Formats: sequence, C-alpha cells, structure tokens
Amino acid sequence: MKFGGTSVADVERMRRVAAFVKREADAGHSVVVAVSAMAGETNRLVALCADAGPPDPALDVRNVEYDAVVASGEQVTSGLVALILQKMGYRARSWQGWQAPIRTDNAHGKARILAIPEEPLGDAIDNGEIAVVAGFQGVAEDGRISTLGRGGSDTTAVALAAALKAERCDIYTDVDGVYTTDPRISKQARRLDRVSYEEMLEMASLGAKVLQTRSVELAMAYKVPVRVLSSFGPPDAPTPGTLICDEEDIVEKQIVSAVTLSKDEAKISLMSVPDEPGKAAQIFGLLADAGINIDMIIQSPSRQAGANISFTMAESELARAVDALSLAKEKIGYVQMLSDKNVVKVSVIGVGMRSHTGVASTMFRALADKSINIQNISTSEIKISVLIASEYGELAVRALHQAYGLDRAQGAA
Ligand code: ASP
Ligand code: MG
Repeated sequence: MKFGGTSVADVERMRRVAAFVKREADAGHSVVVAVSAMAGETNRLVALCADAGPPDPALDVRNVEYDAVVASGEQVTSGLVALILQKMGYRARSWQGWQAPIRTDNAHGKARILAIPEEPLGDAIDNGEIAVVAGFQGVAEDGRISTLGRGGSDTTAVALAAALKAERCDIYTDVDGVYTTDPRISKQARRLDRVSYEEMLEMASLGAKVLQTRSVELAMAYKVPVRVLSSFGPPDAPTPGTLICDEEDIVEKQIVSAVTLSKDEAKISLMSVPDEPGKAAQIFGLLADAGINIDMIIQSPSRQAGANISFTMAESELARAVDALSLAKEKIGYVQMLSDKNVVKVSVIGVGMRSHTGVASTMFRALADKSINIQNISTSEIKISVLIASEYGELAVRALHQAYGLDRAQGAA
C-alpha cells in the first residue's frame, strides 16, 4: 500500500492512512506500506538545497548531499505512520531505504533501483510485522543515501511489490483513479476501470501526472497489478479505483482510452538548412552532447533553399538548445532559427489503435472542425501526438475526448 504526500499531509491524515492499513491487515493480509513525505515537504527541502547553493564540484558533483537532505521527508512520515499503527495495537516498524535495503545505482537525485533483497523485510512480515517503508529513497552503491527522482515513492512501492511477490500494489492518492482525461479540463472525463501497462506508460510520459513513469515500467516488467485509488473516501469501503494490468486482462477494449495534454513543450525551427547528407546527424549530435532530450522532429523542403527542420523539447531545455545551436550557426549553415514556447502536445492513447483504421483521420478531422492548426505530428503503435498552439490545448482535449466517444453521456458508465 502506497500513500502519497496529500494522504500523509498531517498526523490526522496519517491516522486515516492507518485505518486503510488496518482494513487490509485485519482481513489477514501481510502489508507493506510505502509512504511519501508530507505534502509540500519535498519542495521545501529542494528549495533549502537551492538556497544553500550548488554543490562543490570537487567534493560533491553527484548531488550526494541533495539526496541526504530531500530523503528526510520520508523518514519522518515512515516513523510517524509506524507510531500510529503501534498505538492501534499493531506491530509496526519503519524502514529507511538503507535498512530495507533498497539498493540503487549512484545516479544521485534520479537513482534507479537495482535490487531489494527478500530479507530482512520478508522476515519481518513473516513475523507478523507491518513494514512502513520510506518511499523515494534508497542506498547507493557508494554507500550513501540516494533518491529516485520526483514522484519516486510510486517506484518504491512497485519495486517492493515485485521483490516481495505481492499480490497487488495499491497506490492511494488524492484522486479516485486514472481518468480518460484531466477532469479539470473536461467535466466529461471518466474514471477507467482498467488500463493496460502500455497505455499507462504512454499516459505517464505524455502528461498524466498520476504515477511516476518508472513505476509503470517496473510494474509492466514484473507484471505487478497496480491499483490507483483514493485515500480520501471511507477506509472501510475504499472506492474501486483503476487497475493497471496486462492488456489480456481487459475485456472491454477501447480504440482510444485516454487523451492527454502536455504543456511542458517548446519548439525550435531551423530554416534553410543545407540539403546534404550528415546535416541532421550534426544538429542532433550537437543537441545530444548538450544533454537535450528531443521529442518530435519534422523536416520539410524550404521555399528558399535547403530544408527546414523543426523539433520539440521540454521548455526548460529550450534556452540551452538555442545557445548550442546559435554557436554552431556557421558550421551547420542554417539561415535562421525560430523558437516558440507557446506550444502544447495533445495525445490520444489506446491499444485498440493497433487493430483499427481511421484513428488518425478522426483526430485530424476533430481538430480541423475546431480550426486548430497542427504543427507537428508523431505516432507510435498505440498513440498519436500533435503539437498545437497553447491557447487551443484544452479545446483540443475536449474535442478529441468527444470524438472518440469518451464523454460520459456517450460511454457505457
Ligand atoms: N516526496 C517525493 C516527491 O515529492 C517522492 C514522492 O512523493 O513520490 O517527489
Ligand atoms: Mg506522486
């Protein structure tokens, strides 16, 4: 059972968390609890680190001390939740990342879990203890505390479930499941009963903020059934939530299951790049060297000369990309560079796309009907994404939600 920051926001809320745990324990289940830091706490700790200044590159290039600071939020909640459970008569113990141990690589600040041994946690559980594990943190190969990247408690929970061969991993949060789209954008959004790992993976990386992407990758690799449900309802009768599971376990398959909006997008266009072999290699090699992650790419013939190449990246990387490309203007030989932060990416996702035709045309038709211009397009087997001007983002989401029959009135539930 994993509880996010809003579910452990204060001691009162932690008592409610304990009531959810009680329900499972009293039903005869062995329970491992993974907790986040209290809501807002990690942000506060990150800000303190920023205030203290950047690490000394000679001593701490790898953000070792950042991890020591930000991991503390989860230490507090794991102890408090264990105390509350003890008060209720359960044998509960907190476990820090180094105690479990949750072994990670040395990529401090965004470490990956390498292994979780079955002991000693498994022994504690077999002895009837409830283990309350600090989420988000582990111990690196260098022996120091590590953290798993923002939202990493989800990954802690799924990794524990996989390592201990749990029946299920229940992620309790402040929403009652995974929705067909963001309910703040469309009142027509519906909770999905089930969604496949692959769809959830696309959703997580395309802007749905329910789960850390890495946690879904892990769940898929180890086939851990993950349930997302609310900790705000009555503990004795939890809401059904959404089950994230294998595609085969989903009976009612939709062509499109969800529509997402990603606002963290920026676009660069290089105009009149010489049309010769090696230019794309040069441009994207340079961006890779600058550590910039490129998403959608299009190349089209230029009316003047050569080709226009445009591509997208996260907004936070735009400035660095522009700098790198400005420096190389002569070398690449483009005539002009344009950049635009005023773009968003809207995506439709569904495993049903593999076996249905006309999915793309429905999307383009729905956008055309709203006079929304498409700037870039990219596709995978189970998703289609378009880049459009920011001001049309929410309108596009609503139009697509309707076009694929996801609106409440149209759907079954
Ligand atoms: N507390 C950490 C964060 O805010 C990890 C988590 O909550 O999942 O990113
Ligand atoms: Mg989270």
